[in-house]
Amino acid sequence: MSKIKELEELLKTALGGDIEKSIEFHKKYNNVWNPFDDGFTEMLHACMYDTKCTGSAGLGWDNLDKGESKYSSRVQSRNCKDCGSKVMFFIDTCQTCGSKDLKLPKDSRWGISSESHLKYYESLKGYRLALLEPIEDNANCREFVLRSWFIETKNPYLTAYAKTQFNSTKSNHINFMPLGKDFYHSSPCLHLKASIGEWGVDIEYFNTENKTSEEIPKKFLTDMTINEIMSAKKMGKERGIVVRK
Ligand SMILES: [Zn+2]
Repeated sequence: MSKIKELEELLKTALGGDIEKSIEFHKKYNNVWNPFDDGFTEMLHACMYDTKCTGSAGLGWDNLDKGESKYSSRVQSRNCKDCGSKVMFFIDTCQTCGSKDLKLPKDSRWGISSESHLKYYESLKGYRLALLEPIEDNANCREFVLRSWFIETKNPYLTAYAKTQFNSTKSNHINFMPLGKDFYHSSPCLHLKASIGEWGVDIEYFNTENKTSEEIPKKFLTDMTINEIMSAKKMGKERGIVVRK
């Protein structure tokens, strides 16, 4: 079987054949529709890179070839602006209060450990970052795009970010935003793009050798050096400082 064909089969199997039926069940119970997850993504990457999963047991990576897998989905729940309830993506009315004033947060992240990044700096090959997105912010949308990028461990920007996060008084956890400023400045190279719909799966792009990184969008271009960008960073949420009175 060709690799493209195998990737299509793998994705189709995870989708379970009948997307509409699956979505209807999830709508019925207001449950997040997420046909892929972290474990599946490790297998997807094992297939893409001709390697195996390691089960992460005590290692700094998920694939035997020393690649670390991350998955994030933008087919997220909407937030009801009236009562604060979560409403799954394919429903346009709040299941708690009936409001139609819902907002899609688009804030899902990839979690990267700054500690592991620095600890395995010499041995970890890099990060394989998969993102599932609906093609439009609409409850009737039934078309999705799954993309996977590669960022090498020794990327100077990501490493500066890991050092800054690690040396801060905050968590060691990098909340890495897909398609955000830090993402584009870390030279992500697209390795996979798949279109997903009720018809099935189409692999539109597959090249694990691609070394041309995504163009940085204008809004993220800056004259600041990496060090200046890092100095200006607020490193995530405070860990919770107790002030004695
Ligand atoms: Zn509500």
